[in-house]
Amino acid sequence: METNSFDVIVLGGGPAGLTAGIYLARAKTNTLILDTGTIGGQVVLTHAVENYPGIESVSGYMLASTMRKQAKNFGCTIKSNIKITSLNLNGEIKKIVVNDKIEYQAKAVIIASGGKSRPLNVPGEKEFAGKGISYCATCDGDFFQDKEIIVVGGGNSALEEAVSLTQYASKVTVVHQFDHFQAYPWAVEEAKKNPKINFIMESEIIEFFGDESLRKVKIEHQKTHEITEMNIDGVFIFIGYIPRTDFVKGIINLNERNEILVDENYQTNIKGVFAAGDCIAKRYRQITTATADGTLAALNAIEYINH
Ligand SMILES: Cc1cc2nc3c(=O)[nH]c(=O)nc-3n(C[C@H](O)[C@H](O)[C@H](O)COP(=O)(O)OP(=O)(O)OC[C@H]3O[C@@H](n4cnc5c(N)ncnc54)[C@H](O)[C@@H]3O)c2cc1C
Repeated sequence: METNSFDVIVLGGGPAGLTAGIYLARAKTNTLILDTGTIGGQVVLTHAVENYPGIESVSGYMLASTMRKQAKNFGCTIKSNIKITSLNLNGEIKKIVVNDKIEYQAKAVIIASGGKSRPLNVPGEKEFAGKGISYCATCDGDFFQDKEIIVVGGGNSALEEAVSLTQYASKVTVVHQFDHFQAYPWAVEEAKKNPKINFIMESEIIEFFGDESLRKVKIEHQKTHEITEMNIDGVFIFIGYIPRTDFVKGIINLNERNEILVDENYQTNIKGVFAAGDCIAKRYRQITTATADGTLAALNAIEYINH
């Protein structure tokens, strides 16, 4: 099997992984970034980023592309759409086999595998995913020109994406399980003052129906248990995330939510294995917190390999 050696391997090419790559490569650390999907992570799903300091407004795609370019220009090797077929993180030299073909070795590893959208897990959801049900406004919003859609959720992502979807849809109904929102007050205010948005509170979608695409949803009121049916063209679901840590389960210590546990140096229970970004146990998940984690994990990894 072909073997390639690096100082540090970063698993994940979202904001945390790319920032780690920028700091590592700039410090002349031979760095490989491996991503099982496309580089950029969840940022690519974001229509507009308006809370990244120094940039008033930028598309998620553009921000991620610039981060990737920076990492590459400083000398990172970047590989996307790979499959990890074996992982050995114990010992001084960490070994990661990709596509059963190449073994990558490194003195340290940074796990920055982020998260993915949480599904509602109700009947019909799998069947109509991609046929009227979406988890990404930027990717699919354009398919719903002048259509009536539902946005599920009550956090920042749900309300911000509801507002962005009004540029396509004729009507957006936000369906939220509680009587209040978890989003920041400004996000709630912006959604409430938008004439195309209305709200169904304390309610949940309990089933999706359709033929070749989604046509109807069943909504249950959480307190009265009254069930109503609503004809709809599309549903966007923004109800949180699941950390992508299955591949290190049983190897790295995780908490009950499957988030990676790290110490104050961003090191996991295995020496030389660090973690950063949305995949670690923390309260707030933003691009700024991911880039901060990536910075600190990289600096600690540099110190680790130098000593
Ligand atoms: C719809 C939406 C809108 C958002 N809007 C904003 C916003 O406006 N402002 C803001 O600050 N934040 C926003 N966020 C949150 C922000 O996108 C995340 O906090 C941030 O992307 C986390 O970065 P990350 O690098 O930790 O993880 P991710 O962005 O999830 O990147 C992880 C990367 O790791 C890869 N990966 C997964 N498993 C593996 C593996 N086993 N091996 C190798 N690679 C792997 C994935 O393919 C992915 O590319 C939004 C999120 C969503 C979903």
